[in-house]
Amino acid sequence: MPELFARHGAGQRHAGLHAGRCSFICPRHQQSHPLRVRHMQRIFSGIQPSGIPTLGNYLGALRNWAALQDRHECIYCVVDLHAITVFQDPKELARQTREMAATLLAIGIDASKHIVFLQSAVRAHAQLAWILNCVARIGWLNRMTQFKDKAGKDRENASAGLYVYPNLMAADILAYHATGVPVGDDQRQHLELANDIAQKFNFDYGVDFFPNIEPLILGHAARVMSLRDGTKKMSKSDPSDQSRINLNDDADTVALKIRRAKTDPEALPSEPDGLANRPEARNLVGIYAELDDKTPADVLREHGGKGFGAFKEVLTALLVEKLTPIASETKRLLADPATIDATLRDGARRAAAIADPIVAKAEDLVGFLRA
Ligand code: ATP
Ligand code: MG
Repeated sequence: MPELFARHGAGQRHAGLHAGRCSFICPRHQQSHPLRVRHMQRIFSGIQPSGIPTLGNYLGALRNWAALQDRHECIYCVVDLHAITVFQDPKELARQTREMAATLLAIGIDASKHIVFLQSAVRAHAQLAWILNCVARIGWLNRMTQFKDKAGKDRENASAGLYVYPNLMAADILAYHATGVPVGDDQRQHLELANDIAQKFNFDYGVDFFPNIEPLILGHAARVMSLRDGTKKMSKSDPSDQSRINLNDDADTVALKIRRAKTDPEALPSEPDGLANRPEARNLVGIYAELDDKTPADVLREHGGKGFGAFKEVLTALLVEKLTPIASETKRLLADPATIDATLRDGARRAAAIADPIVAKAEDLVGFLRA
């Protein structure tokens, strides 16, 4: 928590919101998840159309988005405003945006019961983001590791948008008063910042307006690592296509990428402790476990002692089995772009109906005159 709040004690403001929670039953493992989630939360999450969705996006986020639909009100967004924080070719952006929307529908997100839409189609995101730009402190943004990673050595040349990306992300969520945000582990820091921003807004304007946000970081593969470097996150924008499995890779491509995936010379251990200091081995075991609805310990009980040659073969077969239906459904949906666009327009209309009054209220609290 930033010092400012520590001094003023505003951090306690939302303590009451944590009361009355129950354990989240992980829909895939049918067991109590360590994360505690309230019943019937409003869920919000987004994904950038900055490339083809990867296995990391699927296991860390999208799969959980689909699973949360049974118990919660879900609002899912293709965040094109975020994507242009790094230059995107306009034609490619439009194509990738529709493809990302099709992927969300292909993994089973029900856009009639829930909401699927494009961020740029709902103005409330950018409107609230500006207010939050004025609430967030530069010192807080300076601590964000994603900016450091993405800006790299040439920080002076990064876009201002990339720097204030976390403020827009806070606006995305807070514009809906959403309280549950299913994301991969890499977004944890941004969600902590979003809570700091919300608390500072509430404190500055003397209100209890924005709720506390709860990160829903679920499963054993909340951070899938690059196939080329087990210490680096798998990303759809990584320049190396060999670093990731794309959800539209065909069986041969998956086989080749897994065969080439970096490993070490040891055989697989029979217990998870044996994966310490073996990031590539841990990553592949984690991927297998998540896809097969098992724990890494289960996987090692079954495959411990195998060399990577044999393990990579079973992993490839599992990946192909689980991912090819998504790719073919995405392709089927993309054959009818008008229907996808109509779904997105309807989603944007319903999203705006929730966000517009909340952002209008935020503007009133700030003191904008309605002349
Ligand atoms: P980019 O490289 O453009 O940032 P990305 O692959 O990081 O793309 P995002 O659109 O930034 O994808 O994130 C979408 C969701 O996927 C977020 O919830 C994020 O936490 C999750 N995610 C991204 N990469 C991984 C990963 N390697 N493992 C698990 N979850 C991930
Ligand atoms: Mg990312």
